[in-house]
Amino acid sequence: MDAPTERTRVKRLNKRAKYDTETVHGILDAMPICNVGYVFNGAPYVTPTLQWREGDHLYWHGSSASRMLEACEETQVCVTVSIIDGFVMARSAFNHSCNYRSVMVFGTAKKVTDAAEKEARLKAFTDGQWPGRWDMLRPMTAKELKATTVLSLSLDEASAKVRTGAPGDDEEDYALPIWAGVIPVRTEVLPPIDDPRLITGLKPPAHITGYKIG
Ligand SMILES: Cc1cc2nc3c(=O)[nH]c(=O)nc-3n(C[C@H](O)[C@H](O)[C@H](O)COP(=O)(O)OP(=O)(O)OC[C@H]3O[C@@H](n4cnc5c(N)ncnc54)[C@H](O)[C@@H]3O)c2cc1C
Repeated sequence: MDAPTERTRVKRLNKRAKYDTETVHGILDAMPICNVGYVFNGAPYVTPTLQWREGDHLYWHGSSASRMLEACEETQVCVTVSIIDGFVMARSAFNHSCNYRSVMVFGTAKKVTDAAEKEARLKAFTDGQWPGRWDMLRPMTAKELKATTVLSLSLDEASAKVRTGAPGDDEEDYALPIWAGVIPVRTEVLPPIDDPRLITGLKPPAHITGYKIG
């Protein structure tokens, strides 16, 4: 990372481009939802799923029976993560925009084959989102571990693009009597809802009540 490759160099509005580790990691850590793009039987697919980052790798997981996970293994993929921070309302339709933070990663997805390593990755995913949860859970069985695939992707080839701030209108349009500005947007976490079958009186732990996203 830090320097773009031919395919990660942002061409369109390149003043919004960032390639530094801190920005890329910050966006990945702020939003667990990603889109995984891959080609299967000659056709493109983009599958939304959850991702997490450990060091300089991004991971995603799912059922070992998942076509997406099988199709991605040892093949070229493109994974994006995006966060919308606002709708940018300009004085012309053309100059409307979005405030956002996004990352695009390219590379070859690798399967985590070692069972202990796979379990460690799944623990890191769980605890990364909800600190301390893994050790509170009924341990994963060997069968469950086998039924789960974890893929990894190096962050060596990644770009970020970030837009912030007010609209950029044409100079003569600033005199127009049209409201312009930003509608801020954020993903909000609401209070947890007890499972109807929860043991009476059990309170959600801090990693549930304190959960944040974005
Ligand atoms: C929430 C959101 C809303 C958006 N809405 C629009 C919209 O309505 N219309 C629109 O045209 N664009 C929109 N964008 C920007 C869009 O993602 C592309 O950057 C833009 O369309 C230019 O694409 P391109 O292929 O011409 O970019 P190029 O500059 O040709 O792409 C070259 C390389 O730059 C990098 N890159 C490009 N875009 C991104 C990105 N978003 N994040 C990280 N790396 C990137 C990639 O590595 C890519 O391979 C939006 C982005 C987000 C996150």
